[in-house]
Amino acid sequence: MSTLLDKISNLEKKSAALEPSAAERETYLSQIGKYSGNFIDGLAARNTFSNTQANADKLKIDGVKKDLPTLLNLYTKEVIDHGLIPSSGGHIGYIPGGGLFLSAIGDFLADISNEYAGMYFGSPGAVTIENELINWMKKVFRFPETAVGNLTSGGSIANLIALTAARDKHGIKNDKIETSVIYLSPQVHHCIHKALRIIGLEDIIVRELELDEHSRIRPDLLKKHLEVDRIAGLHPFMIIASAGTTDTGAVDPLDEIGDIAHAHEMWYHIDGAYGGFFILTDRANEKFKGIEKADSLVIDPHKGLFLPYGLGAVLVKDKESLFHSHHYTANYMQDANNPDLPLNPADVSPELTKHFRGLRLWLPLQIHGIEPFIACLEEKLYLTDYFRDALAKRGFELGPKPDLSVSYFWYPSKKTDQNAFNQKLIELIHEDGRIFLSSTKLNGKQVIRMAILSFRTKKETIDVCVEMIERCLAKTKVFFGE
Ligand SMILES: *Cc1c(COP(=O)(O)O)cnc(C)c1O
Repeated sequence: MSTLLDKISNLEKKSAALEPSAAERETYLSQIGKYSGNFIDGLAARNTFSNTQANADKLKIDGVKKDLPTLLNLYTKEVIDHGLIPSSGGHIGYIPGGGLFLSAIGDFLADISNEYAGMYFGSPGAVTIENELINWMKKVFRFPETAVGNLTSGGSIANLIALTAARDKHGIKNDKIETSVIYLSPQVHHCIHKALRIIGLEDIIVRELELDEHSRIRPDLLKKHLEVDRIAGLHPFMIIASAGTTDTGAVDPLDEIGDIAHAHEMWYHIDGAYGGFFILTDRANEKFKGIEKADSLVIDPHKGLFLPYGLGAVLVKDKESLFHSHHYTANYMQDANNPDLPLNPADVSPELTKHFRGLRLWLPLQIHGIEPFIACLEEKLYLTDYFRDALAKRGFELGPKPDLSVSYFWYPSKKTDQNAFNQKLIELIHEDGRIFLSSTKLNGKQVIRMAILSFRTKKETIDVCVEMIERCLAKTKVFFGE
């Protein structure tokens, strides 16, 4: 007996290190507070991109204890200093967001209390916060009160959940797969194709629709395809539209497509991961007409509401279709399964235990109120105009006036192959690194993309960017002897 008590007491002493003392906690908080402050205050002055590698040896786990200042130093040298700085306003490639400070505080609080946000029984408060955020989004996107939804880790999982619901609602399995048809834009985000493979629809027929000159789906051609497929005895079952494509920011004609989907009794899915929250702005609101016709909708607060990575959302009108794959009753869960309780996040998502991610959105929305979010989104739309004007003045050619805040441009070199010229130009922009832009190919044409969505991107950022581009353009001309 005494050896057992000795053992426990001995282990207790060693394991006590996992609970820092009040004084140690204060020290950690003060160190991390200073570090965070310096990091944020230094963002505007530092480069956004560095094409260098992390040293894996330095980051290896050796099981030996170290102190926080040493590790923060390591974090700067091996993590922050390489690749992209997504929290910087200078990130105007891919789809940025920034990373609100108060979301970090929300995450901190969620982690300290470690509330269980998977089942209402475990944390009625945390689950209510998540359900209230879904209710708020339902209002924003004019979805009915009966719709349900889930806060996911991002847009990819949100799309996966929505497409699973569509599949289950229409019973697309076994011999139905090869004769069922999905209609979508070739500009649809690649996570849609991934999701189709994951949910067993790899062999379904996918019709990539022709687009208009603004890269939007043409409803007339959609109708034509549908008729042809119906006559051929196929089973059109889903239309996927985008409320802001990743490549060009195009918003498909949501209203018209919705009418077509309903007339043909098809599932209508809208991916608004990038653009959805622009519905809040006066300037772009009109473009989202008909979004409420969707059966399922994806939005990404870690883009359009400027949160740090880790929050997407899906709304689905038909609860049963969402429950079909995700709802589960296990014996060890019997205390938590009460049909009279509010919706459990675990019943509409592949996840059971999960991070209480709602708090990272709830806290900033409550502290800031909605107004600065709307102003910031509207500001991004006008900064896009400002940037495009500046580029046009410097001899660049521009893609069509964008629906939202993603656009593209290229330099129309007369002497050099244009793709080679613009490829070199983007390489020099990445080498410079002050501001990060990305590139893409549209119909075989090499173009440079701008995506203005970080809450930290300001007029001043665009001015630095234009100056950087001018410098890189001059160097590109020298390189090709122009
Ligand atoms: C970013 C994006 C996605 C994927 O979302 P993640 O949050 O990166 O998983 C899907 N669709 C669109 C239109 C996007 O912009």
